[in-house]
Amino acid sequence: MLRWSIATVCMGGTLEVKLAAAARAGFRTIEIFENDLTFFSGKPREVRAMAQDLGLEIIALQPMRDFEGMPEPMRARNFDRAQRKFDLMEELGTKLLCICSNVSEDALGEPERSSDDLAELADLAARRGFRIGFEALAWGRHVHDWMQAWDIVRRADRPNLGVVLDSFHTFVRKNPIAPMAEIPGDRIALVQVADAPGILMDPMSLSRHHRCFPGQGDWPITDFLELAIGTGYNGPISLEIFNDQFRGAPAAAIARDGMRSLEVCGEQLNQRRAKASAPPLAISRPLPAPANVSGVEFIEFVTSASHSPRLVAELEGLGFRRVARHRSKDVDLFRQNDINIVVNREQDGFAHSFYLVHGTSVCALALRFDDPARAIERANALSAPTYFGRIGPGEASIPAVAGVENSLLYFMKESERSSWDKDFLFLDAPAHAGPLLRVDHLNNMVRRSELLSWVTFYKAALGFTEEPQVELADPYGAFFSRVVRSTDGSVRIPLNIADGGSTSVSRFIENFGGGGVQQIALSTDDLFAFVEGARAKGVEFLDIPDNYYEDLSARYDLEPELIERMRSLDILYDRHKGGEFFHIYTRMFDQRFFFEVVQRRNYDLFGAANTPVRLAAQAAEQDEAMRERAMLD
Ligand code: MG
Repeated sequence: MLRWSIATVCMGGTLEVKLAAAARAGFRTIEIFENDLTFFSGKPREVRAMAQDLGLEIIALQPMRDFEGMPEPMRARNFDRAQRKFDLMEELGTKLLCICSNVSEDALGEPERSSDDLAELADLAARRGFRIGFEALAWGRHVHDWMQAWDIVRRADRPNLGVVLDSFHTFVRKNPIAPMAEIPGDRIALVQVADAPGILMDPMSLSRHHRCFPGQGDWPITDFLELAIGTGYNGPISLEIFNDQFRGAPAAAIARDGMRSLEVCGEQLNQRRAKASAPPLAISRPLPAPANVSGVEFIEFVTSASHSPRLVAELEGLGFRRVARHRSKDVDLFRQNDINIVVNREQDGFAHSFYLVHGTSVCALALRFDDPARAIERANALSAPTYFGRIGPGEASIPAVAGVENSLLYFMKESERSSWDKDFLFLDAPAHAGPLLRVDHLNNMVRRSELLSWVTFYKAALGFTEEPQVELADPYGAFFSRVVRSTDGSVRIPLNIADGGSTSVSRFIENFGGGGVQQIALSTDDLFAFVEGARAKGVEFLDIPDNYYEDLSARYDLEPELIERMRSLDILYDRHKGGEFFHIYTRMFDQRFFFEVVQRRNYDLFGAANTPVRLAAQAAEQDEAMRERAMLD
């Protein structure tokens, strides 16, 4: 039967923790990596009992290394070793032993000998009711492509010997996948999947440190699965990921992400089958289709009574005006054109708890959906449960799921403002326009170990797509950004991580008590007029060094008067394929967040060329703040 499975090696922690995490994420089968047994303090049969209690079937024991094609006396020793593995399998209650291709310098490299060895082993295994799977490692001494492994299995010609197909070894060697269609499905012992980023690196290093779940990397995993399943293969499809970040994260979160990524693979496979009028695979439950996201409905800040006046002054300086007050809570609504900002000063409940951990910060974000009910149903089906907040009488209840660092992500119906009227008393003020038009994008800082997890959440649960990773220099290290965006591009969220203890991202994560929204980018159609107005109202912008403008005049044929105007206002500039981008950053609020204001002219990027300038200017600002604090102490 086709079933999703996960190898214990994907997760961190003890074997008990891994088994429990896999079962909780909905897996019913698991592959045991022998190291996990070696480090387990109990007997193998206790592992079997533990797995049984959790409803998990152990589908394979792996790996047995350096087996085939060895000269004597190593050959004889290998057969003794195999008998001990069989005993272990007996105790574990598993039927399949996976052998990976020999990497030993002593290996003979004669395909006939390898076939004979595997045939003999298969016969020994058959007496005990076991099966053998043979897998090509990309760095195997003589066998490194799946076609070679299949050729050896085919020659050995034993019913209980099959080839193991692994997407990692296949794609890293650029092996063709179309010929897989020729393998009879019952000769495939196991299908393993791993994705990886499309970076140039030797296969072993890429395998040991950068494997990731389907959809987190750049390889066509769904194509691979479609071909493997197309052979008639009817067994487990197992995640096999070696990744330091995965092992450093909670096992439960990794198992959940693994299941999310497989469910999306299943959805894609069934969409292809539906087009070809083939019946759906029973491996995945049907998921509600992603709803369309058409923008950010509101951004919610939490603050305290004492910090609120500074935040409100900043918002008013940017052109926002208070338009409504919550009916039952200490919460105000600020508005400007299509941008809603909620300021929450409650003394208890979710927002206040968030404030105690993170300080004045963005505690929630609401997205506009065409069908929020279906969107939340999909999120729930992918293990993102609904959060319902405390509500007052007659107030709208907006469903939410947990976002980065347990902030909230609300699901709101687009173009339905009645929920605002239910919760808020609108002040008797004229409708307010202003220079800022809409939310352009929101940068989320995330812990390095959580980056792939959030990529999977946005892609799988919300149906977002992703842009290639951007890598930039920070004055104190490196900065990486992966942008997830809604299909129509109305919501764009760069997810940022860093290497280096004093980088802007690391300082943020330290100051902020974890990840979160660091940058709120708002758009205007006249940045120069906006900046002049905001400066007059006391908004402070990030100081950009003069050298930046020298460099700008060397790079672009811009009018000197324009460059001078940008210099005097601290406005940055970028150009791409004929499009132009003007943007500016406010100074950091409590070292936690800042606003960016952008003006786009046929430009669809994020001004990444200017990010190092921004990071350096912010680092200088932070260093200055630290010096001031030290002098005060
Ligand atoms: Mg493998």
